[in-house]
Amino acid sequence: MVFPNPTPGFYRTSLTNEKYKGVQMDNELNHSSYLTIALDEAEAAAREGDRPIGAVLVTPDGQIIARGHNRRHTLNSPLQHAEMHLFFTHQELLNTYENQLTLYTSLEPCIMCMATAITARMRRIVWALNDPYMGWRVGLNLEAYPKDKVEIELIAEPDPDLRDRSRLLLISNLSETDKLRALAHIEARNQAATQNP
Ligand SMILES: [Zn+2]
Repeated sequence: MVFPNPTPGFYRTSLTNEKYKGVQMDNELNHSSYLTIALDEAEAAAREGDRPIGAVLVTPDGQIIARGHNRRHTLNSPLQHAEMHLFFTHQELLNTYENQLTLYTSLEPCIMCMATAITARMRRIVWALNDPYMGWRVGLNLEAYPKDKVEIELIAEPDPDLRDRSRLLLISNLSETDKLRALAHIEARNQAATQNP
């Protein structure tokens, strides 16, 4: 699966918010170490019988202020994706660190989580593994957001080893039926894109 835009690897929107121009982000953050913690959380989710997806929130100076994982089944709610769980359980911190936090996830956020992350004013999102099945790029257009509202930096799959670890974890926790359904859907969508570029 090739995403039309943005290309995997690195993406920064053209959107800028003058209000937050002065906030200094630590560009030396070690993405691999935080993604490793997100993956540890993903493994915890798997042990509890949930989808193996984890997430971490990090301040501009590198402090972890929240970590968690998917609780879809343990909390019996379809909204309890790892990212949504962090947002809902740390709402006051979202205000304190408005437009300053980095969200690390083991899997590319879905449309719901990406839209919420933007509303929650994340400054940067880094994910270990692209998700061509349900990732936000299948249908969310960031360029459509008001340009004075959002500034966000997106980094996809910065560490090949962690990408592979996330993929293996995901595949080993999916049923054969789910795997086939996802592959069939991706295949059909790619074919449609090829026929109607
Ligand atoms: Zn999600």
